[in-house]
Amino acid sequence: MARSSRSSIARHSMAEQEPSVRITNFDEVALGYDLTTAVEEAQRCLQCRHSPCVSGCPVGVRIPEFIKALREGDMWDAVAKLKDKNSLPAVCGRVCPQETQCEEVCVLAKRGEPVAIGRLERFVADWEREHGIRVPPVASSMGKRVAVIGSGPAGLTAAGDLAKLGYDVEVLEALHEPGGVLVYGIPEFRLPKEIVKIEIGYLESLGVKIRTNVVIGRLYNVAELLESYDAVFMGTGAGLPMMMNIAGENLNGVYSANELLTRVNLMKAYQFPEWDTPVRVGARVAVVGAGNVAMDSARSALRLGANEVHIVYRRSREEVPARAEEVHHAEQEGVIFDYLTNPVEILGAEGWVTGMRCIRMSLGEPDASGRRSPVPIEGSEFEMVVDTVVMALGTQPNPLAFSQAPGLERNRRGAVVADSATGRTRLERVWAGGDIVTGSATVISAMGAGRVAAMDMHAYLMGQSRGPWLTAAEPA
Ligand code: FAD
Ligand code: SF4
Ligand code: SF4
Repeated sequence: MARSSRSSIARHSMAEQEPSVRITNFDEVALGYDLTTAVEEAQRCLQCRHSPCVSGCPVGVRIPEFIKALREGDMWDAVAKLKDKNSLPAVCGRVCPQETQCEEVCVLAKRGEPVAIGRLERFVADWEREHGIRVPPVASSMGKRVAVIGSGPAGLTAAGDLAKLGYDVEVLEALHEPGGVLVYGIPEFRLPKEIVKIEIGYLESLGVKIRTNVVIGRLYNVAELLESYDAVFMGTGAGLPMMMNIAGENLNGVYSANELLTRVNLMKAYQFPEWDTPVRVGARVAVVGAGNVAMDSARSALRLGANEVHIVYRRSREEVPARAEEVHHAEQEGVIFDYLTNPVEILGAEGWVTGMRCIRMSLGEPDASGRRSPVPIEGSEFEMVVDTVVMALGTQPNPLAFSQAPGLERNRRGAVVADSATGRTRLERVWAGGDIVTGSATVISAMGAGRVAAMDMHAYLMGQSRGPWLTAAEPA
């Protein structure tokens, strides 16, 4: 097929559960491509020689190559090309913000609609799962031990890459299930937990050992780990929620998004009493914030039976940080968006939330982030009647893991200082990557950081040190 006719084919849409049906269940919303649609979508790829899409992917997935294998019907080759750079493709195909990464720079994006790279990635990964995952050969043992603290995408990627290279890798995870935000944060209806489990099982088959219920900073500290392991990677994420510090935040019925989502996803509160953790969500819910976490909280509240769910956001629609697809899905499901609105007090009676006093905002000059800053409009205060408030304002790294690791430098936002080119911290033999370094970011950027650190750890442990450890004076 000629290049021009390929690029003129419209991008293929993906089947989804109907909004009225899906708000009654926690099943996956997007249903994926079938083989015919996947091959037709793969036909749209122009196989560009300079492949800008690859440079848009933080882990450099061999995009044109896996797509070529898919459209030629060589599915095992497509799997091999895809997994060469990405050990969690079924996860990334579902939750990567492709529209600002690989798909944003696809040449077809300039002419109309980019190749649906994420959907094709998801299709290939799901095909492999249905046909039996094959484990690639791993290098013979290097005779060296590595501890990975935290089992989110950063830690899992570092662990998988090091295991393939022949290291004896142990992942130490505080929670009772591995996966980090993939299991406790992102809801089942966007990322089924069975899929995360199977991708983690693949890493275990590469030789990665995972120990759960191990809280670093309590059970062991980093200095103790350095006595038993040759190297340590820290990937403990940014799981400490931020609150607004306004009156009424201690009332019953106020959640941090992290608590709500952990109860729902990890503890399966929507299946209470079969699972033993309850969750109470009232009839009228306000979620404060407009990132992906806020959309997940609002959509979860609807599925838990709330009649009316509001997103309360102090800026306008243009500044909403959540993925466009998540906002679209929330709107389709009936979430109400209150833009240019900010809570100033949570109201209550007898210890429980009864409402929220809010103020209208306007947008002033751009702030340090480049976004126009919200300014309260005097005299515009009003009350909203709600019985549940969810704070989805962002998170920062939990200091527990490095509380007993003197020498690890942290910046003003509480993030660990590490070199972005190597993952090295100021503490020799300790690397860090993912949200612990960047603050809350994306799955694929955490995976990219895990890979960068694994490569530098390998070089260091092979005696090919690639430069000095960070000193206090060096920029991170
Ligand atoms: P995490 O995933 O946070 O994993 C850190 C792990 O370390 C956790 O398992 C934690 O229990 C463990 N840990 C912490 N402290 C200790 C300790 N002291 N000892 C031992 N273990 C410890 N990104 C996207 O790309 N797309 C999305 O759609 C998306 N949606 C999101 C939705 C929600 C609700 C949230 C919260 C985040 C979302 N993100 C999304 C962001 C993304 O999930 C994170 O950027 C990513 O998971 C960071 O990976 P990480 O490995 O650095 O940390
Ligand atoms: Fe695109 Fe994410 Fe896949 Fe990379 S991992 S190719 S950014 S969908
Ligand atoms: Fe295919 Fe787009 Fe990548 Fe070109 S830029 S190779 S069209 S996916």
